[in-house]
Amino acid sequence: MKFADRYQQFMKEQKEEVPVIRLSNLKAVLKNCEIKDMHPKDRNTEEDCDCPVCDRTFFPSILKDMSVVVNFFNKRAQELLYSHLASGFKKYILRLKRKLKLKASHENMIKEAQDLVGYATITAFAIQKILKKYDKVHCSKKGQRFKYQAQTMKLELLKSPWLLELMAFHINVSKNRDERKAIWFVDFSLHKDDEHRPLFLVNLPHSIELNLDLTCPICLDTVFDPVFLTCSHILCHMCACSVASVTIVEGLRAATSAKKCPICRKGGVFGGAVQLAELSMLLSRSMPKYWKGRLQRERQERIKQAKEFWESECRSFLE
Ligand SMILES: [Zn+2]
Ligand SMILES: [Zn+2]
Ligand SMILES: [Zn+2]
Repeated sequence: MKFADRYQQFMKEQKEEVPVIRLSNLKAVLKNCEIKDMHPKDRNTEEDCDCPVCDRTFFPSILKDMSVVVNFFNKRAQELLYSHLASGFKKYILRLKRKLKLKASHENMIKEAQDLVGYATITAFAIQKILKKYDKVHCSKKGQRFKYQAQTMKLELLKSPWLLELMAFHINVSKNRDERKAIWFVDFSLHKDDEHRPLFLVNLPHSIELNLDLTCPICLDTVFDPVFLTCSHILCHMCACSVASVTIVEGLRAATSAKKCPICRKGGVFGGAVQLAELSMLLSRSMPKYWKGRLQRERQERIKQAKEFWESECRSFLE
């Protein structure tokens, strides 16, 4: 079966209508392209590949679809994860709101996480494929460039912190490996390399690997209470606060845009950082001894920072 048909079928099988990348519209644009029949030899420079007719419709259309899809995915993933992490009465209300029967919630949650991971990955492939097709038709690199632009606009699904959280969530709630296998050709797990450093391995179709090294570049240990910066790098919460020159009480939102990521040196990456609660839970379960020791050490530091923060607040109030 062709990819476009498989994509459509996957979306049809979803229990409710979900936003999609309208591949047929985009294909129709490329089909009517005027320069596609030009011989590649006649297109020596980048300007020869320029196609204002396609560009006017192709990129705005795919951008619109992508933002609808990414917003939908992020919102749904957050709702699901929030209902997992929420407790007591709040959890009950949330589940009622989501029309889930409490009895079947475990199976429902697993199914929903699987559907969302499948949805994100198959959509990411659909986007990659149509951008490649754009480049093939035009003999250009514009499609690839657009892909990198989308990453900086946080529209790349495979780089979404919520996809990582959903995968960690799925491992956390699955009772066995069989429950975990059933996602659209996606396999992921937590591993340790030869030097016992933890790695989050993600294998996608077409032998694409999205492996994440979970060693913090600041403390050089396994990320503790991890946060996902907007540049896609992961640090311990405390380490991120020290790099961003804020206390744990003020939080990363108080960081100025001048503070840079210690890995890629990009600025303004702390304000929109996402706390990876599911990954944190997964790591704490897989290395309980390390987690407990780190928790004890950090608790003292957190108390110290909180004390200093409130003392300075009191001083400035009295002055
Ligand atoms: Zn064209
Ligand atoms: Zn660290
Ligand atoms: Zn970075």
